[in-house]
Amino acid sequence: MPIWQHLRVALVAALAWALLAAGSLAMVNSAGAALLIWVPAGVVVAAFRFTPRQHWPVLAALLLPLIYITMILLGSEAIASIAFTISALAQAAICALISVRILGGRTALPRSARQVVGLFGAAVTGCLAGAMIALPFRAEQTFAEFAYLFLANVLGILIITPMVLHVGGIILRIRRGRALEFDREMTLALLACGSLCFLALRVEGISLMPLLVAAMVAMAVRFGHAAIYLTLISYAAVATVLSLGGENPVAFISVTRDQGVLLIQSWLLTLLATALPIAAMLMKWQDMQFELIRRNSGMHENLMMLDLSEQMAGIGRWRMDLVTGEQEWSQRMLEISGLPDHFEPNFDDLRELLPDKGLELIGHLARNRRAREPFTFDYKVNSPEKGERILRISVLNEFDITGRRIALFGIAMDVTEQVHRVQALDLARGQAMRLAAEAQKLANTDPLTNLPNRRCTFGRLESMVAVAAKHDSALTAIMFDIDHFKSINDQHGHQTGDEVIVQVAELARRQARQADVVGRIGGEEFVWLLAGVDARRARSLAERLRQAVESGIEGSPLPNVTISVGMAQFRAGDDGDELLARADAALYEAKEAGRNQVRRAA
Ligand code: GH3
Ligand code: MG
Ligand code: MG
Repeated sequence: MPIWQHLRVALVAALAWALLAAGSLAMVNSAGAALLIWVPAGVVVAAFRFTPRQHWPVLAALLLPLIYITMILLGSEAIASIAFTISALAQAAICALISVRILGGRTALPRSARQVVGLFGAAVTGCLAGAMIALPFRAEQTFAEFAYLFLANVLGILIITPMVLHVGGIILRIRRGRALEFDREMTLALLACGSLCFLALRVEGISLMPLLVAAMVAMAVRFGHAAIYLTLISYAAVATVLSLGGENPVAFISVTRDQGVLLIQSWLLTLLATALPIAAMLMKWQDMQFELIRRNSGMHENLMMLDLSEQMAGIGRWRMDLVTGEQEWSQRMLEISGLPDHFEPNFDDLRELLPDKGLELIGHLARNRRAREPFTFDYKVNSPEKGERILRISVLNEFDITGRRIALFGIAMDVTEQVHRVQALDLARGQAMRLAAEAQKLANTDPLTNLPNRRCTFGRLESMVAVAAKHDSALTAIMFDIDHFKSINDQHGHQTGDEVIVQVAELARRQARQADVVGRIGGEEFVWLLAGVDARRARSLAERLRQAVESGIEGSPLPNVTISVGMAQFRAGDDGDELLARADAALYEAKEAGRNQVRRAA
């Protein structure tokens, strides 16, 4: 808000102060009315509350001379006028400062009993300070005078300030183009209250004051805050009129006029203290109701969205209140669980409908009773239309603040097809892997002897050569060939020849260690690869093999055969072919030297 607007507020407040002060004093002096409420006090507090704190110095600087001039014009002495002006401003500033702090907003209304108490405290504190400053300069310095002025100021602030702010709010709203609503019902009620007040003060012999309390409370409940201030203003106006000409406004007790006025002032204060907390509570209740409606409509929207997403995603929703036992099943949940439409599940019926009387389901829920995170499990149900279905259920436990599980919230999805697809896929994958392994084995195995075939043996040789080269470790290649095998075939037939090959292979396998490779690389030619064995040891192993073949297997019907063996040690720089070529040459030497012997390559 630009500064000139604050200046305008200050000017209007000062002018209003001057007019109201002059009017009030004129009423007192010329018409003999009692001053029940010091209205100007409320106007200045409203001006302070309406103006942001940083502009208060500007406001005070403008009010100060104008109030002072008014005082002088109204006939006060110069020194007293200064004191009264400072008193009025100090009172307003203290009161506004505390009120804004308590209410949180410049024009806010009290929304709790605590705020009401605070507001009274603010008015009392401000007015005490103001009275302290002003009293020494007043002509009369009695306690009655002090009480009367103090109460008039407190009432002025408590009743007039909110009214001025309310009117200010209405003016702002009209400026923004909103129409002013005339509340006929409230106007009539106010007139009725004014009449009731008139009656209460006029009737002699009996106090009808309790009726005023009832009317006040009814106004607060029916019309809210603004009505409280308007009702009190109407009471004050009636009492002021009745006090004209120095009359005691209260007819039912015989007291002096001033005592009557004090009585009415304290009555007004009491009424305010009764009605304001009620209005504050009502406002709070209204706020809560709005909040409830807002949340309800939000929740309703959320539920609709949830239903929609459920339908689209094929997900069912379920909630069970463990305290009341109540259950909520979404339509989709009933559908995928194979339960009848619009079925209202009760625990026992449900157990009858679920497979194994729901024991498995209850087991899952019981096992996870302390889980703070959602837990998921698959559960089989029987659908009358679709047969056995598999549901994937995710459940979230709800706990109260003491940690007691009070509800379960679950969502479920029919995953039957998905599970079947995964199962079929697993089966196919297993089969494919078995077939691949078999094919691999076939491709690497010699079908007659079950030993690694030529291709596989050469492959193993290459990797063993690579290891030996890398670690500079020993590697021996032993190559052996059955002697005069042609004649075996010739004499005993090809079938027996095959059996002899198998027997030699078996003997070689028995001699070999776990890590060795024994492979059949040709008709009756074999290779034995030994890693990490020195030449002497390798030779003795080869010799042992030669002897084993020569000795044959006891009781075997097969003809005895011998083998010639050639061996070679890996040398740095060798590849598999070179190593094998040297072993082959040694084998050739063994054949040349008369067969059935072991020869080592040079
Ligand atoms: P040497 O002592 O010089 O080795 O004489 P040999 O008769 O064993 O000669 P060679 O090794 O050259 O002969 C191999 C023979 O083995 C030729 C072939 O008829 C026979 N043979 C090759 N593969 C098989 C087979 O799978 N089964 C059978 N029964 N005989 C085979
Ligand atoms: Mg041979
Ligand atoms: Mg041969």
